[in-house]
Amino acid sequence: MSAAATATTTAQPPVGVSNLPNQRYKIANERGGSFTLMVCGESGLGKTTFINTLFQTTLKHQDAQQRRYTPIKKTVDIDIIRAILEEKNFSLRVNVIDTPGFGDNVNNNKAWQPLIDFIDDQHDSYMRQEQQPYRKVKFDLRVHAVLYFIKPTGHGLKPLDIETMKRLSTRANLIPVIAKSDTLTAQELQVFKSRIRQVIEAQEIRIFTPPLETGSVKDDESPDSPAMEHARQLIESMPFAVVGSENKYDNGQGTPVVARQYPWGLVEIENDSHCDFRKLRGLLLRTYLLDLILTTEELHYETYRRLRLEGGNSEDPNLPVKAPARKLSHNPKYKEEENALKKYFTDQVKAEEQRFRQWEQNIVNERIRLNGDLEDIQSKVKKLEEQVRNLQLKKR
Ligand code: GDP
Repeated sequence: MSAAATATTTAQPPVGVSNLPNQRYKIANERGGSFTLMVCGESGLGKTTFINTLFQTTLKHQDAQQRRYTPIKKTVDIDIIRAILEEKNFSLRVNVIDTPGFGDNVNNNKAWQPLIDFIDDQHDSYMRQEQQPYRKVKFDLRVHAVLYFIKPTGHGLKPLDIETMKRLSTRANLIPVIAKSDTLTAQELQVFKSRIRQVIEAQEIRIFTPPLETGSVKDDESPDSPAMEHARQLIESMPFAVVGSENKYDNGQGTPVVARQYPWGLVEIENDSHCDFRKLRGLLLRTYLLDLILTTEELHYETYRRLRLEGGNSEDPNLPVKAPARKLSHNPKYKEEENALKKYFTDQVKAEEQRFRQWEQNIVNERIRLNGDLEDIQSKVKKLEEQVRNLQLKKR
């Protein structure tokens, strides 16, 4: 390669390469953004309330009354809610895919299938439209993010959660959230979070995490930049603990805040020390909206398309994509915990080995002692026999 080809040049005036992220924003703005969010989890985990809290409007009615008299269905339904959000000249078409009935049955075998089929169908429909001679107007319901609501049991993930998350994560940007997190104490929540993170890592479930490596869509990519710091904080908070409410209450200082009211006080939805709602909303609708849309396009849709054109078998739970999971444990705090655990196990093994060696030595010592005793007894027996023989001789 010639020296000229590798030289770094500072163009005067600037060529404008540095405006690239803004261009992405402008392109998205001109086309009018479209964002499809899927929510799934058992009934009653607060999905409807969360959606209404997220978009600050009643996108979906809780229709609890109606549900109470509806017999439980054997299948998982797919509800599509559409809305247009307008803010400062930017309009975003929002599609919310709700999945009532997921996990509600006694036998939840393959409950994930309708969700997987829906995601695959949207990729398929988009692919077919692309193959048409006129491709201008596209009906696009490809899912950009899946919010998976985890029941706040405090114990861990159920096999159904693990299986479903595994499958969803190969097809879309999966974001697990702890539902109704106000039902857990701060300490229980931390333990629950760390258990979920451990399972996610052990099972290699690829959840969406803000990009930390260089080459991401962020403007400023130095490791110490505020954007990277923000990304790191978001990763540390995963899985996000959410609380939803459609009501406002006075916070005691004359300001109405969205909250859940309890006899002992308010759980404020937008208070970072009460829950992670603000972080999740920022990730979904502000900081990483474009990243979610682009990874859906460039990773999930492209992989689906490639596999379909290659004739892949969509029954395989790992298809269409088995992308490497981004590590949740980049955080030094978790690294420290992991190292401490490793040290604890090594120390335990060493102590056991030592105990075993001591025990072995004791057995050897005992055997020597017993051998000594045996020799004594044998010599005594010999002596006695000698005496008996002498006595018999004398007698004769
Ligand atoms: P969905 O079936 O998952 O859509 O759940 P809903 O949104 O209909 O909520 C079911 C019930 O849980 C309602 O009574 C809500 O008021 C309540 N709820 C919703 N979000 C929360 C939350 O964050 N914390 C608590 N404690 N209750 C919630």
